[in-house]
Amino acid sequence: MNNNNHQNGHHLHSIPLKKNGQSKQEEITKLFEEMGEQHILTSINTPLRPDAFDLSDDEKVKAIEKHFKAIMDILGLDLTDDSLKGTPHRVAKMYVKEIFAGLNPNNKPSVTLFDNKYQYDEMLVERDITFHSNCEHHFVPIIGKAHVAYIPNKKVIGLSKINRLVQYFAKRPQVQERLTMQIAQDLKKTLETEDVAVLLEADHACVITRGVNDVNSSTVTSKFYGKFEDPNYRKMFLQLIKR
Ligand SMILES: [Zn+2]
Repeated sequence: MNNNNHQNGHHLHSIPLKKNGQSKQEEITKLFEEMGEQHILTSINTPLRPDAFDLSDDEKVKAIEKHFKAIMDILGLDLTDDSLKGTPHRVAKMYVKEIFAGLNPNNKPSVTLFDNKYQYDEMLVERDITFHSNCEHHFVPIIGKAHVAYIPNKKVIGLSKINRLVQYFAKRPQVQERLTMQIAQDLKKTLETEDVAVLLEADHACVITRGVNDVNSSTVTSKFYGKFEDPNYRKMFLQLIKR
């Protein structure tokens, strides 16, 4: 599959279309059938190598610092300048310990679940969860809001834990579609319910500050599972996240 179609928007995959008489829709359906479950699962996981955590965080900071210094050097920047000399270390530390800390499963927030003693069986919506991520194609910020809903089964979750889970998955090089799926699937598993909805709206610095330089566009992605696949639940969710 060709993944390199970022210019046309944030799609996980481009779909090569043949001109052999098949309609576009037939061709797309056929391609998705051929890709099957396996394809969907592999694209939801962040593509990490098995040796991704062989180096310690501090070893990574040291190595990245060296490489980032080389980048600045190649750009012709004077690294003896007081304002610049600390930058390679700052960037390396920020990558490993802050903005990409969500790559490491050890940094996943622990989630305490509570028994659903009230037998609450209506939708719970946590809206306007601010998240900061970075586009994996350009390594510049994606800044947005997540709206998450679930219908409790036997367990409920502390509300701030939903925010923390969103932020954990955001702290990776991302595409918005994958971020949406990772949050939705993790909540389904954690809460032992199928009934989960996730909607993200975000601004992408790679669209705003370069390329098409469009300051007004934003990107909306959503994933609905279980009861949220029903248009009535979906409608209620969409109404509740509006003011
Ligand atoms: Zn980008």
